[in-house]
Amino acid sequence: MENITNKKTHVLVLPSPAQGHINPIVQFSKILASKGTKVTILTIDFVCKALLLDCGPLINIESIQHGPFPQESVDNFLEWFQSLILEKFRAIIDKFANSEYPVKVLVFDSLITWIIDLAHQLGLKVAAFHTQPFALSAIYYHIDHEDTSKIPFDGDDVVKLPAIPLLEKEDLPSFIIESDAYPTVKRLVYGQNFNFKKADWLLFNTFDVLEEEVINWLGTQYKIKTIGPLVLSTYLDIEYGSSLIKPNYETCKNWLDSKEIGSVVYVSFGSLASLGEQQMEEVASGLMMSNSYFLWVVRATEENKLPEEFMSKAKEKGLIVNWCPQLDVLAHPAVGCFFTHCGWNSTLEALSLGVPMIGMPQWADQPTNAKYITDVWQVGIRVKVGKDGVITKEDVASSIKEVMEGKKGVILKENAIKWKKLARQAVDEGGSSDKNIKEFIQDCNALN
Ligand code: UDP
Repeated sequence: MENITNKKTHVLVLPSPAQGHINPIVQFSKILASKGTKVTILTIDFVCKALLLDCGPLINIESIQHGPFPQESVDNFLEWFQSLILEKFRAIIDKFANSEYPVKVLVFDSLITWIIDLAHQLGLKVAAFHTQPFALSAIYYHIDHEDTSKIPFDGDDVVKLPAIPLLEKEDLPSFIIESDAYPTVKRLVYGQNFNFKKADWLLFNTFDVLEEEVINWLGTQYKIKTIGPLVLSTYLDIEYGSSLIKPNYETCKNWLDSKEIGSVVYVSFGSLASLGEQQMEEVASGLMMSNSYFLWVVRATEENKLPEEFMSKAKEKGLIVNWCPQLDVLAHPAVGCFFTHCGWNSTLEALSLGVPMIGMPQWADQPTNAKYITDVWQVGIRVKVGKDGVITKEDVASSIKEVMEGKKGVILKENAIKWKKLARQAVDEGGSSDKNIKEFIQDCNALN
């Protein structure tokens, strides 16, 4: 393990309270800690208990205690989270100010822009940590956060933006299309533009060659640092002293071990997306109709939407689990493709492990990620959506066939292997992301 910090640099890390946001920022924290930086993750008791917060031995946790909190909507929960952190933040910084390791730098999830002013007032430098592709920030960059209705559509409903492929409506982030589904989430998402104006560093979980064009366009105007892919280092054969939580590890491994190379479709829609009952049934029937085995993550809260007797009927072809060690699964030779909601972590994980994808995006950045997966990186296809917005079992089955059995699948696999190599190069010693992380640490050290 390389130690490049010899001063008492202390970085406080503030993640958003959602699994897909926590995983990459914790991974980044582990990298900083492995290079000698003192890292404390600031979070709340609920996150410690409910989410998989696997920080390993090198990282400290500062968890705020709290009473009951709003659970009826994501928006109310996020408002509550904001008030709680703002109320306690000064006391936490003060506590460390009197210790051997005063906090000099705050790394915050890019949605938490409401912390920037307070952190600056307290004398900290701040780094906005983006858990979405750089292209998404470039798209939001064009939107006036005071007037979110303005997006440069032309007459054909095609959005033309510099250094971004032509985007049709179905490719745009959902916050642009669905006006008011989650007002607080939308405000936070658009608020990320403040980071360009106010943050001292802009960190992105992506890598240079993956988003070369858009990074060359907007990235050069700001102090951005690509630091990804932040896929658990073990899978990129780099040791950062992580300890892995492996839910259902043995069950998945034994089942996958019994299958032939490339014969299994791994299906997961991430930690948040919730399919309608009809859509669940179509996916379930489509998987049964396909010629492939399948490993499907159906979260406990979604299970009641599965068709009657599906579990017993699917026994021969499929394994259904509530959660799995996704990286282990994607890295397993039996897995031939990933039927995914195109969450950014899942996308980067599949790219980094060379697994072709079938995209079934649900919301947020996922439609745009799907566009890049199919048209820019050419590592997957997007499943066709029917007129009523539902994807049919026939389309589920035929997409699987196309990737698992068709000529297209061979090309996608070749491209996926190419990206796997490039991802590895970015994080290897001397690679673009490795250099950027080291520079960031040196910048932090210089503050002492
Ligand atoms: N994940 C996992 N096990 C599962 C499903 C997902 O470990 O059964 C992890 C996955 O590896 C990824 C994260 O959960 O790191 C999901 O993040 P993503 O950005 O793909 O989607 P989100 O959950 O934010 O919609």
